[in-house]
Amino acid sequence: VVRVRELVRQFGTRKVLDNLDLDVRRGEFVALLGRSGSGKSTLLRVLAGLDREVSGDVRVDGTVSVAFQQPRLLPWRRVWRNVSLGLHGVDGRAVADRALAEVRLSEHAEAWPITLSGGEAQRVSLARALVREPDLLLLDEPFGALDALTRLAMHRLVEDLWQAHRPGVLLVTHDIDEALQLADRVLVLDEGRIRAEHLPPPRPRRHADLTELRDRVLVD
Ligand code: ATP
Ligand code: MG
Repeated sequence: VVRVRELVRQFGTRKVLDNLDLDVRRGEFVALLGRSGSGKSTLLRVLAGLDREVSGDVRVDGTVSVAFQQPRLLPWRRVWRNVSLGLHGVDGRAVADRALAEVRLSEHAEAWPITLSGGEAQRVSLARALVREPDLLLLDEPFGALDALTRLAMHRLVEDLWQAHRPGVLLVTHDIDEALQLADRVLVLDEGRIRAEHLPPPRPRRHADLTELRDRVLVD
């Protein structure tokens, strides 16, 4: 779904992305690590088509969903409406309600975004990204503001979606364990390029471990 060659993005004279190459295949779950300020969000904005001030070759096929680092919810729309925006020709309310149940926010469906906590807003943003069943899912630290239990539940949610629809996923995270648990490939962005690639052990075993841990933790 993604093929990037020799991508350069500079701010002033500083090349934040400097001849970057990246491939994400359909159905592949890729995690992206990198220091703060290394250009991860910049790369995601380029892939989402929100930043075209670049040189190089950027190809992205199919529909793209993004959950941004700072959830950008429309303040004048209720929570459920924020989730259903962008869905075309289907019963948006029903789909939104299902997604909100999955991120455990059913009771906030009618709320205004401003009344949400940071973690709740993040989960709305995640629900909004997931309902579109995209070919490419771009996640910019979507779990950062969540408590450990909710984060585990959200991991499961993203994994389930990924298993069901097999989009390409590019997940930006600062959490190395999270990257190793979820991803097929872990990349490190450094000095404007992908400098390192790590292949975690095969997925099924980890998924089972995670499920077992979640069941243990969440059963009261
Ligand atoms: P973090 O992990 O803290 O989110 P990041 O890897 O996502 O960091 P980016 O947000 O991509 O980092 O920013 C990379 C660099 O580009 C930073 O030094 C930032 O100051 C700079 N930058 C980003 N957007 C702009 C802009 N619009 N104008 C000028 N500089 C920018
Ligand atoms: Mg960022």
